[in-house]
Amino acid sequence: MTHLDVAALAARLPAGPRTRYAPSPTGYLHLGHVANAVMVWGLARLLGGRVLLRLETHDQVRCRPEYVAAALEDLAWLGFEPDEGPVDQHDATPYADALAALRRLGLVYACTCSRRDWATGSTGAPRYTGCCRDAGLAEATGRTLRLRVMPQAEAFTDARGAVVQQDAAAGGDVILRDRDGLWSYHLAVTADDIRQQIDLVIRGADLIEATGVQVQLARNLGRPVPPAYVHHALVTGSDGRKLSKSNRDTGVRDMRAGGASAAEVIGRAAYAAGLSGNADAIAARAVARLFETRAAAPHAVARILS
Ligand code: GLU
Repeated sequence: MTHLDVAALAARLPAGPRTRYAPSPTGYLHLGHVANAVMVWGLARLLGGRVLLRLETHDQVRCRPEYVAAALEDLAWLGFEPDEGPVDQHDATPYADALAALRRLGLVYACTCSRRDWATGSTGAPRYTGCCRDAGLAEATGRTLRLRVMPQAEAFTDARGAVVQQDAAAGGDVILRDRDGLWSYHLAVTADDIRQQIDLVIRGADLIEATGVQVQLARNLGRPVPPAYVHHALVTGSDGRKLSKSNRDTGVRDMRAGGASAAEVIGRAAYAAGLSGNADAIAARAVARLFETRAAAPHAVARILS
């Protein structure tokens, strides 16, 4: 059984650890976002840490101002108050600086491949085959910029303890800036976690595959010791599939319009995430309590981390 051992996690962190809540405003918040907020605020409060609210707006095509406004309003309604922020990713300077640093290390190359040039990797996920890696193409408008990912093991700790990802390059060379000039998720999140001095990253298990690459990228950007991670199970819908932003019955706004109180929405999210044995209402300011009672609900702990 996998335990979320809060004491062991605390031992790996500095006093007053900094964590972040980092939704992508490409849609409205749903129960999965609320469950992540319960973990971020719950663990931060229990560990005496701070929460930075970071709106991940690096994809300025898919992010919309109305989703940013809605996320801020929904979080305020739910009662999740950040200690810092909100900040966003509109200022290109930190990403351009990070790109320049990687370029100096010879780790950036231009690429003209399209998705058609991708192969299916060992994990079954699409994998960029690296056809432009050694082509020596000049950087130019309309060309993607990629990172040379070293095919080596990367180690980090998450709530289970030490994790070693055998091949950080399993997904191929990741994008740093796309052909439209938009900064990639990997570059933006890694550069921000460094400059914002994030000690603890709490996010869904769907992102664990990205962690080895980000650990390697962070090292190349001057952060030798990665943050600690908690990768938690995703909240799934009644069909067992990952929630999407169009899923109406689990949207925060839809539940609110249906008459649910903030504490009821948080209670539903905590239950759906396996953090609580029941869906009883719980206020945002009280969510740390869910982590103090871990020992009383070991089945719930296993679900969080499965
Ligand atoms: N913005 C990402 C998301 O909403 C999370 C990024 C991260 O935690 O690394 O999925």
